[in-house]
Amino acid sequence: MLYKPPLNEILFILDKVLDWRQLFRYPAYKHVDPELAKAVLTEGAKFTADILAPLNSIGDEQGSRLLAGKVVTPDGFKEAYEQFTEAGWSGLDMPEKYGGQALPLALQLAFADMVNGACISFAMLPLMLRAASSLLMEHGSKDIVDRVVPHLVSGRWAATICISEAGAGSDVGRIKTMALPQEDGCYLVSGSKIFITYGDHDFTEQIIHMVLARTPDAVPGTRGLSLFLVPKLQFESGETNNVSVSRVEKKMGLKASPTCVLDLDQALGYRIGEEFRGLNCLFTMVNLMRLEVSIQGPAIASAAVHQALHYADERRQGGRSDALPLSIIEHADVRRMLFIMRARTEAMRALVYETAFNLDVARVAEEEGERREAGLLAEFLLPVCKAAGSECGFEVSSLAVQIHAGHGYISDTGVEQYVRDARVSMIYEGTNGIQALDLLTRKLLREEGIRYRVFTDRVNRDLLESRDCIHSRPMVKALQTSLARLEDCSTHLIALGEQSIRDLEAGASDYLNLVALVAGGWMHLRIINAVDTNTDFGRTKTAMADFYAEYLMPEAVVLAERIKIGAGILYSLDGDTLVHY
Ligand SMILES: Cc1cc2nc3c(=O)[nH]c(=O)nc-3n(C[C@H](O)[C@H](O)[C@H](O)COP(=O)(O)OP(=O)(O)OC[C@H]3O[C@@H](n4cnc5c(N)ncnc54)[C@H](O)[C@@H]3O)c2cc1C
Repeated sequence: MLYKPPLNEILFILDKVLDWRQLFRYPAYKHVDPELAKAVLTEGAKFTADILAPLNSIGDEQGSRLLAGKVVTPDGFKEAYEQFTEAGWSGLDMPEKYGGQALPLALQLAFADMVNGACISFAMLPLMLRAASSLLMEHGSKDIVDRVVPHLVSGRWAATICISEAGAGSDVGRIKTMALPQEDGCYLVSGSKIFITYGDHDFTEQIIHMVLARTPDAVPGTRGLSLFLVPKLQFESGETNNVSVSRVEKKMGLKASPTCVLDLDQALGYRIGEEFRGLNCLFTMVNLMRLEVSIQGPAIASAAVHQALHYADERRQGGRSDALPLSIIEHADVRRMLFIMRARTEAMRALVYETAFNLDVARVAEEEGERREAGLLAEFLLPVCKAAGSECGFEVSSLAVQIHAGHGYISDTGVEQYVRDARVSMIYEGTNGIQALDLLTRKLLREEGIRYRVFTDRVNRDLLESRDCIHSRPMVKALQTSLARLEDCSTHLIALGEQSIRDLEAGASDYLNLVALVAGGWMHLRIINAVDTNTDFGRTKTAMADFYAEYLMPEAVVLAERIKIGAGILYSLDGDTLVHY
């Protein structure tokens, strides 16, 4: 079954739940109104359905290959990329002066939602060129920005992010790639980077690699890292720049997106930002990529939900043997799975949009206090969206396979590809384990928990406003109880602080899951407050919120208990004993 973009769902969230008019009031977005935004997303839906979705299974079957040192992408990808850039999709939220359309990030995210749902392997490339443009606009010199950004925004050039090395995965401080300064201010960069997404391809001639490396005087660890722009082809001469691909990985999923080993051998590079501030600069790119990786989960989950609902309606099994078999949608266990799938996906999608919305406000609001509050909330939610969003993609697509059963496990229906493709979002852009640590150490503990407090204040405000609303009662009750549990756990973890780092880390993933559960409930509350409960749409949303409140939110009890267990049991065996199996 081909992908059907969830346009109505997306418009409902942006318009009714988040109220995009609030964004369009800011001077930076004065040129946008609901009609224009709707028209853009409607065109985007058409593009993703007609041009990108048909590539998804072709990409999975053919994959990208390395032929004579060059990466060849699957049939149709290059042509689709040409259509993508010609139609101007690569610069939706980029500034007009560089050729973009200056639309809000939330709208760009909505488009990315459909691109990822249609073909996640394709989506990886435009994601990086936008993120690299933002990085350069924030930290690059005027000369570099003028020379590079317009080409990235137009999509004529592509970009990569080069962090990982064989000995430096999550532990970025172990990067060994070296950058030697030259008299003219440039650098010669040498080293081997692994897992580089679209490290080479046949879409564009020029590729801009954003490379973390070490200069000769660098101290060990992340504080010794600097950031370099290394073009595939030298700017002045157009000659090759000693950047080569020695391997394209064979992978579980995401097969059309080439994952490359990239070797740099005295490649000419330009430093971006101050020496030794490389990681800080790169975070502009990383954070934007994390936001889009956050929507990959709900995007794939949503496609899987759509397919599973149709299958459950059509497939007939069970019931009285003297009658026609029942649609499997009539079986309680199948309904249970469908409800989990929808309730989780709808909550996560809304949460990622809420985060993008706040990033927009943090960027463009005129009042400083408003910008700061929105920024703090987005910072708190981003690791939650990345980890819980990606888990949602994997869990929901796995349930879609379960509903299709044997017909899902074989490749004909396409749902097994969703499981394989969704899995990687839990790994890249910082593993989910690292997101959980980030949430605890950088977001909860810093500045006396101000980010957490902004989050709970917002939830409490909406709870207060929903007090008298009859149809939101089950969610109000469940949310109040889970929020109290979260408050208790947060106080516990803040008290542990840095003194008992192992106990803190042992509870990190469960803490992130608890925040995600509460945040999902908050989203359902806002969804039901935005619907007319006399319509089928409204009744469906209310049923999903009730299910989330009654079936899913009790998970808070288990999570809260786990958070407090501490690390004792985990370290009751030493490494040598544990490894003996
Ligand atoms: C398809 C794909 C595309 C990718 N694209 C890119 C790219 O474009 N550019 C790029 O630079 N990289 C890319 N990566 C690399 C990716 O970012 C890394 O795989 C990821 O950061 C994890 O590193 P690792 O695989 O070495 O795992 P490791 O760091 O070895 O982690 C192994 C396990 O240990 C855990 N762990 C590690 N350290 C800690 C800690 N301190 N505390 C708790 N747990 C810990 C991890 O959570 C994980 O479960 C890509 C990877 C894949 C699979």
